[in-house]
Amino acid sequence: MTETRTLTTVPAVAPDADSPIAQLFDIAREAVTEREEEQREDARLAAVDHLWRSYPDTLAKVVEEDMWNSQSALPGAGLEACAVAYLGGCLWLHHTRRNDQEHHVLTLIAPCTCGSGYVDTALDGEPDLMQLLTELRATSGRFPHTNDGDCDSQQRLRDWDALCS
Ligand SMILES: [Zn+2]
Repeated sequence: MTETRTLTTVPAVAPDADSPIAQLFDIAREAVTEREEEQREDARLAAVDHLWRSYPDTLAKVVEEDMWNSQSALPGAGLEACAVAYLGGCLWLHHTRRNDQEHHVLTLIAPCTCGSGYVDTALDGEPDLMQLLTELRATSGRFPHTNDGDCDSQQRLRDWDALCS
């Protein structure tokens, strides 16, 4: 017959700062911090580079490098690293890369005319952007509300509002 031992009394003692496990925790934390910083910097530079290449006469002229706020990837949520720039008037630019970083996705985010949500529009080059800007100018930077019901971006509205108020 084998004896079963249960560990019911684990002492609640934090490891010493110079113990091997404490040092390993530090190494792991630094590795994560470094990776996230690299991803953020990479995401910011990718956004800047994309504007210079694809929007040299419009966005690249008005969106400065330091206007981009970038986020590292959230693999658990299926989110790639991205960068966001505030354009004023509660309008935003969002940049990310998909398909192994090959494909740039630049999105313009503007409030809906109904006032209860935001509308995302993927941009497809400068002619596309110019057409969109002409439409938005007529509505003071608001996308016309098109769906039948309420806008379903309530959650995002709160998030964005916190940033642009
Ligand atoms: Zn709406």
